[in-house]
Amino acid sequence: MIWNKERETMSRKGIEALQLEGLKWTVAWTYENVPHYRAKMDKAGLKPRHIQSLKDLELLPFMTKADFRENYPFGLLAVDKDKLVRVHASSGTTGKPTVVGYTRHDLDMWTELMARIVSQAGVTDKDVAQIAFSYGLFTGGFGLHYGLERVGAAVIPASGGNTERQLMLLEDFGSTALICTPSYSLYLAERAAELDIDIEKRTKLRLGLFGGEPWTEKMRLEIERVLPITATDNYGMSELIGPGVSGECESRCGMHIAEDHFIVETIDGESGRVLPQGQQGELVFTSLDKEALPIIRYRTRDISVIHQEPCSCGRTHARMEKISGRADDMLIIRGVNVFPSQIESALLGIEGISPHYQIHVTRKNYLDNLEVWVEFTDADMLDHYGKLEALANTARQRLHQVLNINVKVKLVEPHSLERSQGKARRVFDERG
Ligand code: ADP
Ligand code: ZN
Repeated sequence: MIWNKERETMSRKGIEALQLEGLKWTVAWTYENVPHYRAKMDKAGLKPRHIQSLKDLELLPFMTKADFRENYPFGLLAVDKDKLVRVHASSGTTGKPTVVGYTRHDLDMWTELMARIVSQAGVTDKDVAQIAFSYGLFTGGFGLHYGLERVGAAVIPASGGNTERQLMLLEDFGSTALICTPSYSLYLAERAAELDIDIEKRTKLRLGLFGGEPWTEKMRLEIERVLPITATDNYGMSELIGPGVSGECESRCGMHIAEDHFIVETIDGESGRVLPQGQQGELVFTSLDKEALPIIRYRTRDISVIHQEPCSCGRTHARMEKISGRADDMLIIRGVNVFPSQIESALLGIEGISPHYQIHVTRKNYLDNLEVWVEFTDADMLDHYGKLEALANTARQRLHQVLNINVKVKLVEPHSLERSQGKARRVFDERG
């Protein structure tokens, strides 16, 4: 279902008019109220009146995570603290978290965006939606919560973790939609199998709304093989608003971006040059109507491709392909660029190998070593050294075909790699 037909099926001209108006407002609002960004514009010799067309966006300085760090916790806010009604923060693996704030208007806008995303993923007011994202500073739990409530689904705020209880609720409450990270959905399916719970028979589950971390098409196939669901992807990040920035429709050919609230650009990560539509690069977002935390040309580090061609669902908003990687996650192994998603694609689909893997990088005698740990699925294999060797060889060859470098493959016993309750940690770079 299209949640907001007027907005989601607008003509390109209509979208652009809205974007220009929002851009002008955002630049003026930020210039007036955020001294840090005003200083950046002054340094570039820019005033809000210089922004007269969408093309002028390119004149504006980028924002990055460093701007957040320098202004921790509230320095980037464009409103007084008493206008805030919510604060979230993203984990940040090192140092201080990235803090974001919302006015009442911002929360309402976010809720509308989430209502769109869950509607295009197939949720209706008949659904029972179990949210297994953690509730807390992380934007995932609350973001989905309010959007699902707005479309009228019955929301079960199960929060993250406690997998056995999740399975119990799934069955007893008749949940039809599961909301979590893709990696957690696999773990849930695995635990169900261990406990002899036949999810297909004992639950009413039909939809999976997944996001928060990268996952490949092959991972989607695997999830749909082990769970009786249609799985859709949705994307967002705290700095932009949280989840709700983009999500898949029933056609599942890219995630529609809320272009009436954000402008997206794709840039070359090295030079910062704007790339033509359809070319792969780093996504950069500008908000159009956020009050508390306006975002101008925020560099996400996430890599994708944008398409503007019309979608069979009738929505006109541009679509982004699945995130193929994060610039921060790219590994350089003996000079070769390697993305974890390439490793995932190479491994998944090999018979006898589970979808749980880890990537370990070490350096010895100035040489990088890439080792992939992956579980074999059949414990009986332990007694057949030859079979294990053959399986490892298959994996090694596949990885070599995809990456063009030699990779060590370590087969480990079933269920021995750590399972994640939220975002999976797969890369262990020990080069220092
Ligand atoms: P943190 O992970 O630092 O706590 P966020 O929760 O805001 O911060 O995470 C945002 C990041 O998560 C994005 O920049 C992106 O890298 C990743 N992410 C979120 N959703 C998706 C998705 N659907 N596909 C791929 N990556 C995603
Ligand atoms: Zn569509």
